[in-house]
This record gives sequence, C-alpha cells and structure tokens, in this order.
Amino acid sequence: MKNSKLFKTNALVSLILVIGFTLTAMLSYRANYRASLDNIEQVSSLTAEGIYYQLTTKFTKPVNTSLTMAHDSLLLEHLSEELDHLEDEDYIEKTKTYLDTYREKYGFDSVFLVSAATSRYYNFNGVDRILTEDSPENAWYYELLKSNQDYSLNVDNDEVAGADNVITVFVNCKVQDNDGATLGIIGVGIRINYLKDLLQSYEDKFNIKASLLSLDGTIEISTTFNGYDKTDWFEVNDCESIRGQILEWRETDSNLETWASQGGQNQEKSYVVVRYIPELSWLLTVEQNTGQLLNDIRLQLLTTGIMLFLIVIIVLFVITAVIRNFNRQITELMEERQGSFKRATEQLYDNIYELNITKDCTVGKRTEEYFESLGAKGLPYSEGLRVIAEKQIKEEFREGYIRTFEPSNVIKEYESGNSHLCYDFQITQDGSSYFWMRIDAYVFLSAEDKSLHMFTYRKNIEKEKEKEIQAVMDQMTLFYSKTETERLIDAALTKPLQEMYAFFIFDIDNFKLVNDQFGHAFGDYCIKEFTGIIRSHFGEEDILGRIGGDEFAAFARVPDENWVREKAKQLTEALDTVMEYRDMKWNISASIGVAVFPSGGKQFFELYRNADTALYQTKERGKNGYTVYEPDIPTE
Ligand code: GH3
Ligand code: MG
Repeated sequence: MKNSKLFKTNALVSLILVIGFTLTAMLSYRANYRASLDNIEQVSSLTAEGIYYQLTTKFTKPVNTSLTMAHDSLLLEHLSEELDHLEDEDYIEKTKTYLDTYREKYGFDSVFLVSAATSRYYNFNGVDRILTEDSPENAWYYELLKSNQDYSLNVDNDEVAGADNVITVFVNCKVQDNDGATLGIIGVGIRINYLKDLLQSYEDKFNIKASLLSLDGTIEISTTFNGYDKTDWFEVNDCESIRGQILEWRETDSNLETWASQGGQNQEKSYVVVRYIPELSWLLTVEQNTGQLLNDIRLQLLTTGIMLFLIVIIVLFVITAVIRNFNRQITELMEERQGSFKRATEQLYDNIYELNITKDCTVGKRTEEYFESLGAKGLPYSEGLRVIAEKQIKEEFREGYIRTFEPSNVIKEYESGNSHLCYDFQITQDGSSYFWMRIDAYVFLSAEDKSLHMFTYRKNIEKEKEKEIQAVMDQMTLFYSKTETERLIDAALTKPLQEMYAFFIFDIDNFKLVNDQFGHAFGDYCIKEFTGIIRSHFGEEDILGRIGGDEFAAFARVPDENWVREKAKQLTEALDTVMEYRDMKWNISASIGVAVFPSGGKQFFELYRNADTALYQTKERGKNGYTVYEPDIPTE
C-alpha cells in the first residue's frame, strides 16, 4: 500500500474515533450536567431545610428566654423602682444576680438589661455602661425603642468589659409595663462562632454557601461575614437581579428556590434557596454555584480529550504496524509469485526489461543496469535505444529496430489498438559473431502511475531461424527449395508484368550412374559444381531453385526469345563438362527445358509443366541439349 493510502486510512480511522468520542463525550457531558444540576437543586434544598431546623431550634431558647424575662412581673417591678435606687448597691447587685442566674442556667454568653429611664446597660457584672444615642454602636437599642416590634435580633461586637468585642448575636426584647410603656430592653447574647461553626459544618459537608440575611439584604451571619461588617449579600454574590424576589419572600412553610445567573466568561450560575425565619426576622440563604461543577466537567472533558488523543495515537500506531506487516507479507507473497513467474518466463525469454514510454525512461533496477552496461547510463530511453542499436545490432536491422521500438511508434501502435510489437534481428555480444534475436514487446497502461509502460521480452531465435532458412533453402546448393521457388515465382508473377521471363529446368543426365559408379559423396560434389555453373550464368535478382534430386530451375527476366535460346545454348555447353575429384572423373551434361512467360504460361504450375514437357523432349532427343517450349509447335 502506498504511503498516501496508509495516511488516508489513518486519517479516516482518526476521524471516526474523534467523532465517536466527541459525540459520546457530548452526550455524557449533557447527561452529567443535567444530573449535576438536579443534584445541586436537591442538595441546596435539603441543606436549607436542615439549617433552618437547626437554627430555629438554636434560637428558640434565647428568644423564649428573652421573652420570658421581658414579661417577668418581678423584673417589671424591679425596673420601675430603678430611679429610687440609683446609687443603691443592693439594687445593682440584685439586677446583676438576676441576669447572671439566667446566663448560668441557659449557658448564654451574655444576659443584659438596658433601662429606658437611665440608659444603664446592666449585665452579669453589674452596670457595664450608660448608652448614649450619639454612638452608632447603640443604634440597635434606639431603633428597637422606636420600632413597634416586640423584639429584634442584631449581630454586633460585644462591648462589654472582658468580652473582647467578640461578634455576638443579640436577642433584644422590649420590657413593657401594663400600659405598654417601654421600661427597657432585656436580652441574651450568643457568640456568633457557635452559629458559624454550624454553617461551616454544612458548607464543608454539602459544598454550599449558607448565610443569614437581615431583611435589607445585609449578611448577618455567614462563615465569612457577619452583621457587624454590614456586607450586602447580593453584591458579594453578584446577583442583583434577584434582590427584590428574595427580600420580599415571607412564606413561612416553604422555600423560594431559583437559579441566578452570574454571567461572566464562565457562564456560572447559582442555585439559591431562601427560607424566611419569622422568629429571627431573617432570611436563610443556601446557595450552590455551578463553578465547581463546570470546573469538574471541564477537567473531565480535558481528561477525556487527553485519553482520546492517546487512544488515537495507539490505534494509529497499531493500524500502521498491522497494515505495514500485512503489506510486507503481501509484498513477499507477490515477490515470490513474481519470482516464480519470472523464472518460468525466463525459461522462455533471455531477458525481460520494463520501460516507461510516456516518461521515456527505464523502469526498475534490472533495466537500468542493462542500459548502463551498454553505456546508456542516465540517457532517456529513446536515446538509449539508439546506443544499443549502434553497439549490438547488425547494421541492416538497426533502422527497423529503432523504428519499431521508439516511443513515438509504440504510442502510435498502442493508440491504434496494437499492444504487441515484435521485431527479429541479428545481434552481437562480442562484436563479431551475430545471432538471431526476437523482441516481443507488450504495451500497457500502468494503473500505478497512469503512464504507458512496455515490457520487452528478448528471445534467442537462432535455432528457429536456422530451421526457417533450412525450410526455404537447400543447404547443399544454397538454391531455394521447391516450395520456396514456387512461392517466390508466383509472388513475382502476381504483379502486373510487362517484361518477358524465362523458366529453365535443368536435369543432370544419367546421374544415377554417378552415384552407382563413384558413390554419393562424388555425386554431391557434382551437384555443387553443376549448380555453381548455373549460378554463374544468372544474376542476383534471378530465382534459382532445386526442384528435384538432380533437377534445378532458374527464373529470370529476359529481353526476348532469341536471347532465351542463346542462353539455353550457352548453358548446355557450359554444363557439358568434366567433373574431376581426386581419381574420380565424370563427363557431366544437362538436359534443359524452357518455358517463356507469358506465352509458355502465366503461373508457376503452367511454366513448370511446359518447361518439363520441353525437358522431356530434350531427353527424348538424346539428352545434352535444350528445348524451348512452343505453345503450338515445340521446336528445337
Ligand atoms: P536421366 O538421364 O533420365 O535423368 O537419368 P538419371 O540417372 O538422372 O535418372 P533419375 O533422374 O531417375 O535419377 C536421379 C538420381 O539422382 C537418383 C538419385 O540417386 C540421385 N540423386 C538425387 N539426389 C541426390 C543427391 O542429393 N546426391 C546424390 N549423390 N545423388 C542424388
Ligand atoms: Mg537425371
């Protein structure tokens, strides 16, 4: 497989994996996100419920205790007598004991009483200070005095000596006489740390943020802020949009639950559960932000992405390895098959070379080496072809060889539907002796590079050619065989001819006797000498053939019949000669019959028949002579 295919396969697999993983990740992201939102809603709601009940339990006691004290008739009486005992230590001691008893009994951090008449602030230590209206620290006191509420809560630093300004939640109750006049304010204080710890435990456990707000949105108690800081919850949580909705919430037996969008880059939002606590006139808010969730999910996505990347790398690595291995095996198999095919082919052909005709170059190492060995290194195929022709091919075949295999001809032949080219020629390897070689060439369009290729198969056809020559030539005389003589003469006679031709038959007289008397070897010698004499009387273009054991023929263009007779006469005389070899001697002579074209026949068989008739007449007349066939009256 080509590298580009491997790359495409890998890219496709990667794409499928990435799409698959992305879809899965997206679906799981959506499902997770939805489930997480549901979870946030449930957790926030339940947590708000839990904190609400804890708080109401915690505050019930201080509120009830404060109310009890505020309505205590003994305290009312005691307070109404204050002005008469301003400097009375007993009075102060009594007040102190009263407050301290409550503190001790219920375990409050402080129990106090403020007299409306004297603005004295009593606690378990006695008179702690005198409140003045100009101090903002005392605003809680004067505000409650002016309001029509029976009691209020405020978060403040405890200014009492020895309390180190610890932030404390105070429950303040009006002490009113039977006429409704306010005699003072009594209350208890609980250190805020205690409440903070409660909220903290919920926050740690459920990953929420819980706050207690006064009805103007100030955070009274949270794990980070307290009422003393005067921090606005909506500002801190960046959710101004739900301010009205939350602050107006006064349902006592159900929660307000809403999603508040924080906006911003992260698209975070918060689920807010609000519970109104009538006993405290505060709002409990429990809020859970999706920031953590989004971070978790993003982290999960990042992990999935990294995993996907690693998986894709591993899968690609495995695919590449498997495909390469598979390819290697296929290539080995192919090479093995090709090898056996080549071996089998090479038994038929001497050499196989491959050429790229379109690109005019060699293909493969073997072909390149062959061209190199003949000094055609690096040359285009068409030029290499000429070098090979020059160096190896016999001159008379060079032009034909180049014309057959040059790229322009190969392309022309292929385009005209011929994909097989063949050329026989004589070639040399040592520069002197030549042998017959045939090149069969197969032209095809390569699927691999879309160009025209050609395989050339070289075959030594020396033996084949020998047989072919033997079939047309008589080896002893180098005259054509009878069939070839007939073919050549008929071929010559098919053309429209104006000229006159003569067909001669020569028969050796009494040749049987030669063999009988001197043996076949001398007989052969006589035949060679005899045919040599005939050859010397004819030219290159004339056809000479052996048409029987001691019968020979000649076909030649002649000017007229007289010339024919003269020629026949000359031949009769020339062939009437003495054959001598070593101690053997024989007086040889020939009987000749001649037929002239066109009068004596227009085709081989007619000329042959009529010349044979003339020959017969020569024999009849006593041999060693000639007869020219006359269509009507044969004459000497
Ligand atoms: P005629 O004068 O009538 O032609 O008589 P002939 O003896 O020539 O008779 P015929 O044509 O019957 O005999 C031809 C002889 O030629 C017979 C054969 O032995 C001999 N012969 C044919 N081919 C060869 C050859 O290649 N070599 C030799 N040595 N003899 C051959
Ligand atoms: Mg004879």
